[in-house]
Amino acid sequence: MTPSGTPTMLVTGGASGIGTSVVERWLNAGGRVALLDVNEEAVQKACARLGTDRVYGHVADVRNDAEVAAVVGAVATTFGGVIDAVVNCAGIAQPIVAAEGADEDWTRMIDIHLNGTMRVCRAAHPYLKASGRGAIVNISSIAGTLGLPGRSNYCSAKAGVEGLTRGLAVEWAPHVRVNAVAPGYVQTPMIDTLIADGKLDARPIVARTPLDRFCDPDEIAAVICFLASDLASFVTGQTLRADGGLTIDGNWYGVSSGGNDD
Ligand code: NAD
Repeated sequence: MTPSGTPTMLVTGGASGIGTSVVERWLNAGGRVALLDVNEEAVQKACARLGTDRVYGHVADVRNDAEVAAVVGAVATTFGGVIDAVVNCAGIAQPIVAAEGADEDWTRMIDIHLNGTMRVCRAAHPYLKASGRGAIVNISSIAGTLGLPGRSNYCSAKAGVEGLTRGLAVEWAPHVRVNAVAPGYVQTPMIDTLIADGKLDARPIVARTPLDRFCDPDEIAAVICFLASDLASFVTGQTLRADGGLTIDGNWYGVSSGGNDD
């Protein structure tokens, strides 16, 4: 913890969607947050909108090792040499037909989601260790478990993130806890764009989700902040599925309960 006792957090992809909701939750709980994002305009807008001196915006691409190291070092200096929590939300969606995809598109997906997560974790590790309560939360997806057509790049990246989470959890114990959250479909700009572009159909998703709706980003932020906080002090190496029951629903062939199924 920082000398002032205020818990500190670094959020990548913090200028949009789930990342911004995490920033808001941590601020509302009294913490200090640094957000890192590749989108400079979005960083400026997010910081201006949040309007507090407890948020610090940084522009960097998680694909660039030097940029990541520089930002993480600057954030640690701001926070007095200690970072209590890191949340890796930076990500893209780029559906591609596997047999036709270009190598650079495949590499981009893996480089942002998997390698980018590793770069940030590696750079932040000494400062998380110094915290004495350090926690990392990575972001997987239902795609870390399920096979999705046109998303073999995304499925591979997210399965990799879950493996990385387990590996680091063991290697960095007992000093740093490492967990992941695997959301279902969350109403963010990423999903809105896929739907608008005709690459995702909302209706079958809702029909296939036992909780019968899309998720609000703040519902994922709540799970992330739980895992990042001392409330989860004995939890490490886990991927927590927050998907409205989508991946545990075995009722796709219509089993009857024999009762009234509302
Ligand atoms: P979003 O598009 O709203 O936000 C992603 C943010 O990451 C953006 O601000 C973007 O600028 C930033 N980013 C992209 N590439 C970057 C890079 N190279 N370096 C730094 N920042 C970069 O998306 P979201 O829905 O909030 O997604 C956040 C994370 O959650 C992603 O990893 C995504 O795969 C995952 N996820 C989302 C959903 C969903 O339904 N929205 C479901 C499961 C998992």
